[in-house]
Amino acid sequence: MLLAALCLLVTLAVDRLATRAALREGQARAEVTLRQTVNALEGHIRRFEALPALLARDDEVRDFFAVPQTAAGIDSMNLWLKATNDLAGSSDLYLIAPDGVTLAASNFDRPDSFVGESFTYRPYFTDALAGGTGRFFALGTTSGVRGYYFGSPVRDGSGRVIGVVALKIGVDDLEAAWRSAEYEILVSDPEGIVFMATDPTWRYRGLLPLTAERVARTEASRRYAEIALAELAVQRASEGRFALLSLSSGGVARDYLEVERAMPEAGWTVHVWLDTAPLRGQARLTVAATVLLLGVALSLGWALWQRRARLAERIALQAAAQADLERQVAERTADLTRANEELHRMQADLVQAGKLAALGRMSAALSHEINQPLAAARNWADSAALLIERGEVARARENIGQILSLIDRMAAIARHLRNVARKPEEPLKVFPLAPVVADALQVAETRLKASGHAVQVDLAPDLPLVRGGPVRLQQVIVNLLSNAADAMEGRAGEIELGARAEGGEVVMTVRDHGPGVAAAIADRIFDPFFTTKTVGSGLGLGLSISYNIMKDFGGDLRVANHPEGGAVFSVVLMAAGRAEGGMAAE
Ligand code: ADP
Repeated sequence: MLLAALCLLVTLAVDRLATRAALREGQARAEVTLRQTVNALEGHIRRFEALPALLARDDEVRDFFAVPQTAAGIDSMNLWLKATNDLAGSSDLYLIAPDGVTLAASNFDRPDSFVGESFTYRPYFTDALAGGTGRFFALGTTSGVRGYYFGSPVRDGSGRVIGVVALKIGVDDLEAAWRSAEYEILVSDPEGIVFMATDPTWRYRGLLPLTAERVARTEASRRYAEIALAELAVQRASEGRFALLSLSSGGVARDYLEVERAMPEAGWTVHVWLDTAPLRGQARLTVAATVLLLGVALSLGWALWQRRARLAERIALQAAAQADLERQVAERTADLTRANEELHRMQADLVQAGKLAALGRMSAALSHEINQPLAAARNWADSAALLIERGEVARARENIGQILSLIDRMAAIARHLRNVARKPEEPLKVFPLAPVVADALQVAETRLKASGHAVQVDLAPDLPLVRGGPVRLQQVIVNLLSNAADAMEGRAGEIELGARAEGGEVVMTVRDHGPGVAAAIADRIFDPFFTTKTVGSGLGLGLSISYNIMKDFGGDLRVANHPEGGAVFSVVLMAAGRAEGGMAAE
């Protein structure tokens, strides 16, 4: 809507501008024609204006008026006037007596001869008679031919006016020359009556209202003889600095642009009229072209705008999708971070809980392990003191022996703990497995005997050498045998100890016929201080120490339950090559 209004406004403005430009250009052309027309008219008049005055001074003309005319004198004057008129190229040349009657004329021999005619009513005559130079434009009353008249006084020796020389020049040829022009040219007299025009029908028509005075003045001089005057239906208007008029003649109205110039000497006004229809057509063409261009520009702009809008939309969509994606990623990341934090916290909690539990278990175990021997040692010491008082030194020494053994036990516990905390400095070696197993069986012998369970050993022949520390490996084996015996407490059966090579490893298994390891605690039994045994019977360090020892060797310690019951502990050792000669040095 707004755009349409804007377009209309632009079109109107362009129309106005284009019309003005066309009018301006037309006006400039009309001015040129006007100038040329005025120059031609003035030149025409000027060519003849001095002639009557010159002739008035001619002796022959003076003598003609000075003495009474004879018929012969008139005849010869007629001939002389005719010859002079032909030479000058004027229309008519004639001599008028002071009473207004024409005495001699160049057209004496024509039917419309002026000779004998009276021209008292003509201003050119009266002006000349009064001593001035007469000029007048009129339609010849005798000839019916338009012309410009000059009148000049003829004076005698004393300066008295004794006659008038009159000269008439025609305008038909000039007017005929205008016909081909693309303009309408009109010449009007002081009363606004057109007497020359490119269109003959406009002749003797008034451009100004024909008032009674104008008509009276015109009739007094009989300027247009008997011709009936009428007004030309002209309506004037102005558009800016352009003088426009519209003329309806014969039912057709036409618009003209007018330029005019007064010719003061002749009392004429020359008008040049330029038909505005072609000018307006030209302007309309410009407007049409502009509108077309505007339309094309608008369509182009619209298309471009649409394209830009589509592009912007696509970019916005992409941006939205991107933002959505980023938001999702951020959300996921936040979720993950949260989950991670949660996990960390839980882990930390678990670790903390585990630590506390381990600490709790350790405290319980340690206080039992230490308090119990301490209390015992105290009893032994008390009774030793009594025995010494009583002089029973031998028994007192026995007591002290008990105390010493208790101290040793506590020292052993301390050593045990130290083993957990500190890595032993035993260097890793390559050695055969069999002797270590034999040593371990020997060390565990007492414990196994007490429990009443035999150990069935089954080592594969040609086992490769293994890598590790034999002393610590022996400790691991003793530990496993001791646990197996504990597990089989009150049950029958043997402990089975086997070993075989598997790939680059040697796997030794210790199997018992106890209850096996419950799934719920399978992954905790290697934790330090984890024990299911009553306080005092286990520190929960055996498996933990064993596990760490095996890891130190680059091996492993695993637990599983045998399909037929009982736990199976696998000691995994790295193989280092075949045993050579059976034994290797420790
Ligand atoms: P402790 O023997 O002092 O309890 P360990 O670290 O040697 O400490 O053993 C930890 C726990 O592992 C034991 O309390 C027991 O519950 C379990 N366990 C160890 N060996 C066996 C086995 N052969 N059969 C069943 N359970 C076992």
